[in-house]
Amino acid sequence: MHRAETDVLVVGGGVTGCAAAYYLAQAGADVTLVERYDLNTQASGRNAGSLHGQIQHEAFLELGEEWAFEWGPTLSLLRDSIDLWRGLPEELGADLEVDVCGGLLVAATDAQLRDIERKAAIERSFGVGVELLSRDDLQRVAPYVSGRMAGALLCEVEGKANPLLAVPALARAAADRGARLLLETEVHSVERRRSGFGVETTAGTIDCGRIVDCGGAEAAVVSKLVGVDVPVERWPIQMSVTEAVPPLVTHLVYFAKEKLTLKQAKSGSLLIGGGWPSREDDSGRLSVDVTSLAPNLRLAIEVVPQIAGASLLRTWAGVCPGIADWRPVIGEAAPGFFVALFPFLGFTGGPLLGKIVAQLALGEETGRDLAPFSPVRF
Ligand SMILES: Cc1cc2nc3c(=O)[nH]c(=O)nc-3n(C[C@H](O)[C@H](O)[C@H](O)COP(=O)(O)OP(=O)(O)OC[C@H]3O[C@@H](n4cnc5c(N)ncnc54)[C@H](O)[C@@H]3O)c2cc1C
Repeated sequence: MHRAETDVLVVGGGVTGCAAAYYLAQAGADVTLVERYDLNTQASGRNAGSLHGQIQHEAFLELGEEWAFEWGPTLSLLRDSIDLWRGLPEELGADLEVDVCGGLLVAATDAQLRDIERKAAIERSFGVGVELLSRDDLQRVAPYVSGRMAGALLCEVEGKANPLLAVPALARAAADRGARLLLETEVHSVERRRSGFGVETTAGTIDCGRIVDCGGAEAAVVSKLVGVDVPVERWPIQMSVTEAVPPLVTHLVYFAKEKLTLKQAKSGSLLIGGGWPSREDDSGRLSVDVTSLAPNLRLAIEVVPQIAGASLLRTWAGVCPGIADWRPVIGEAAPGFFVALFPFLGFTGGPLLGKIVAQLALGEETGRDLAPFSPVRF
């Protein structure tokens, strides 16, 4: 076991941690990232790659308008993070398959359209560009969508990126700028010192000035080591990929009837998800739940009937970090200890979240009102 020193220690090698390490290293900070497994093996490498910019419809129906107004400030984080996504391929010199192709929330009935309209009014009040499409408009904009659909909401800022490419590119860029990446290194205890922390890991002790907790679904466990309670929920969910099919689905597609996201990757594969539950046993082992799979696929086919013939290649599970109020957790939770967690939509929000927490850890101004996202709001 050896001893190491670093100014900022980032815990977690997902999109948030790798983005934080990248922006910290870019600013010239002495930064070390520790990841207990390999990079990008948890939520950031298992997600659907949707870049979300609207209020999620299921959450809106379940939690209501008052919640949506409280959650609203999160929309500007999503918008600004998607802006970062647009620039990352050039900045990192890597094709991340970023495509801001627009999102379509499709409605099967007039009642669903009315719910969408209520949601759209709130989105507009937060400056999100959304457009309601009639049945005819929808067929014009997305002729691949079933003619049975009643209309849709088009949100132009939305799109997709490839989760398998993004984190490795951020990590490479961080390392190129001097960040140390320690893999298979798990943080298991933290001792507060007069100045900074002594962090015990499976690879020895790391003395650091500040800690940035980007532990995703395990962020609460990491925070607890310094006595901070962040009520992170674990949502085991699953998604599926088909064989490559000819170009067809040109948007990120949702369905107002029930949980669905559907998009076509650059490879031609269709990615089908939307937050359907998977199984997780007491030891944390994940497995696919076939009772989620069938309805998920049926919804996709209901919206885009032409995909019915595509063969399913694989379905997998991952644990999505959640927070009951759906708002991100960003800030200094205890002196020198920073938390960065973007619940549910953290692939979209990860780059900006990493950038903001890097600024906070360096004592820089972020130019944002982070009060709604305070880690001490619970
Ligand atoms: C199936 C699925 C589909 C999703 N689809 C989308 C989507 O389409 N769009 C979207 O925006 N979001 C989506 N999400 C959510 C998104 O993936 C997550 O919000 C995001 O990836 C969280 O990133 P993270 O870096 O915070 O966490 P993670 O990617 O989970 O990374 C955290 C890392 O911290 C490490 N770690 C934890 N504890 C320790 C410790 N003690 N020591 C060292 N390392 C530690 C973990 O091993 C892990 O690698 C989806 C999630 C899932 C599961």
